Amino acid sequence: MHELHLITGVEDESELSWQERSLCAQTDPEAFFPEKGGSTREAKKVCVGCEVRQQCLEYALAHDERFGIWGGLSERERRKLKKRAV
Ligand code: SF4
Repeated sequence: MHELHLITGVEDESELSWQERSLCAQTDPEAFFPEKGGSTREAKKVCVGCEVRQQCLEYALAHDERFGIWGGLSERERRKLKKRAV
């Protein structure tokens, strides 16, 4: 998982156990937190092959994660998804 996943301050381990299987743990974490306007393509490519993509996305939505790529979606894409869900 990328570094910021580790410091979100969540105590409940079961909620985070999926992160042990995250594919981005084996890749460049910086790709998941691109500079403003930077490319998200590399990160999204990794997410496509990640077996915990669904859990990751749900986690990010539930915790209102603002930065980075989670579950293959950028911050903006997650916001859109949320709006549709409400
Ligand atoms: S879906 Fe993407 S961001 Fe989430 S754990 Fe998998 S590789 Fe990482």
